[in-house]
Amino acid sequence: MKLVYTHENPIMVNNIKNILAQAGVETLLRNEFSQAGLGEIPAFDTWPELWVIEPLQYEKAQQLVEAIKQQHNAPAWFCTQCHEENDGSFEICWQCQHEREE
Ligand SMILES: [Zn+2]
Repeated sequence: MKLVYTHENPIMVNNIKNILAQAGVETLLRNEFSQAGLGEIPAFDTWPELWVIEPLQYEKAQQLVEAIKQQHNAPAWFCTQCHEENDGSFEICWQCQHEREE
């Protein structure tokens, strides 16, 4: 097994797990519930971890995770037409449908 993703937010990890499952990648979740026992343990040790069960699927899983991370990290942008703020993953303005300009 290989660790492919870890994040302090279990919702993020579950989200990635679902996306990988849809792509046919089998994964195992570790530390899923350990945040309930957060105490003297350093926080990083209790982050939920997503492991790829089949080593041959690891590369595919890693590429999917990278693609998802880039979507989430894309900076917000402002529409040149209506000046509304848009999420980085949007290609057109949610308000006026004007196309994104770099
Ligand atoms: Zn707009």
